[in-house]
Amino acid sequence: MITKFLLALLILMPVMTLNTLAVPRTMRIDYYHTGNAAHEVFSLDRIVIEPLPWPGNPARVIDRTNLGKYCFEVIDQATSQVLYSRGFSSIYGEWETTEEAKTIHRTFSESLRFAAPQNPVRVVLKKRDPHNAFQEVWSLVVNPKDRFIDTSAPAQPGPLRTFQNNGDSASKVDLLIVGDGYTAEEAEKFNKDALRLIEILFATSPFKERRSDFNVWGLCPPAAESGISRPSTGIHRRSPLGVTYDAFGSERYALTFDNRAFRDIASFAPYEFVEILVNGQTYGGGGIFGLYSTVAADSLWAPYIFVHEFGHHFAGLADEYYTSPVAYAPATERIEPWEPNVTALLDAASLKWKDLISADTPLPTPWEKEAFEKYSREIQQKRSQLRAERRPEKEMDALFREEKEHDSHVLSSGKYPAKVGAFEGAMYEAKGYYRPQADCIMFTRDDVPFCAVCRRALEGVIDLYSRK
Ligand SMILES: [Zn+2]
Repeated sequence: MITKFLLALLILMPVMTLNTLAVPRTMRIDYYHTGNAAHEVFSLDRIVIEPLPWPGNPARVIDRTNLGKYCFEVIDQATSQVLYSRGFSSIYGEWETTEEAKTIHRTFSESLRFAAPQNPVRVVLKKRDPHNAFQEVWSLVVNPKDRFIDTSAPAQPGPLRTFQNNGDSASKVDLLIVGDGYTAEEAEKFNKDALRLIEILFATSPFKERRSDFNVWGLCPPAAESGISRPSTGIHRRSPLGVTYDAFGSERYALTFDNRAFRDIASFAPYEFVEILVNGQTYGGGGIFGLYSTVAADSLWAPYIFVHEFGHHFAGLADEYYTSPVAYAPATERIEPWEPNVTALLDAASLKWKDLISADTPLPTPWEKEAFEKYSREIQQKRSQLRAERRPEKEMDALFREEKEHDSHVLSSGKYPAKVGAFEGAMYEAKGYYRPQADCIMFTRDDVPFCAVCRRALEGVIDLYSRK
């Protein structure tokens, strides 16, 4: 009997510790972001208390990374003290740069999460102006005693799986892996897909060296049908998270626009970052800083897509590529981007990764640009043809393999293949934007690591959630 009692005490101890430290609840503001390319309006949807306590790092409440197109602050009304701040990006923020935003209004659901405050707070949302300085665009006073704050729990999305538990959420990065488009019978497939891709992520620097700073959780709400929506081929599905290919008309871009459903499901795990595994073979994925990233788990390219899109989601890394078509309109004016891994190189002397460049590396840094672009144009043409003719996925895979072999060769030749410099061609533009190294996971599908500048940005975010 005594043994049993001791065992019960041991099991209960972590819970008791949590209670004595009074970990706050998690408050979430769901709001609507509505508008077009020229105007936008923010409006309150609901305020909820999530089922689980706040998993954030109490030692790092203020975000000094300067990442994201937006940021928000939670300010104590009585003392004006900033209790919490975070940078983030949004689907709206991308959509407003597309052609569609010039012709119609749309509404997107978004959320802000923070430790439930004790006293009334003002929540301030800021957006970057044309010079990339944050300006207030919306604010809301929240009284934690407001009777309309919803404390009820949403429907359970299924059991919470523990893929990796390294300790208290307060000092760990909490990563949630959610499955979309997996039926109840495919739950075990989700498990295997998740474990396989987790190993890929933690085989990549800097995640490799910092693995013990992460907890990894899993949820897989059962889907009625296998797979997700792919409107370009006439496939529509009401999957639990609502992820769909063809976001913004780009066949490979997979996002969910159903933020309410996504948030209610995710609220059953402690999380700061979310990877959505899509049960599908067609090449695709997406990643929004501070929101989530997605990957088609069965694509031959899933390891690359996962890590690349996770780079967007985790540290707001820019795409370093520029030869693939995207839905965004080109920037009209060159200002220094806020993204840590691209520069307009307006002032080489104050380049943000200057400390990583050796004295004998010229700026801009020469590379095999013409050869790379010529070949890339040929590949893009073949790629659109394969999609237009709806050829089998294995033909696309073969094309990508051929491209990878060619790119790896071109980018590892030249005088500065492994050097940090400023290589022209980045962020969808052949001219005027520069990337830090000839090759990087944010640039090609080659078997290369994150470049030194991307690694440093990723480490900064790991620190934000795991360091005192
Ligand atoms: Zn990079």
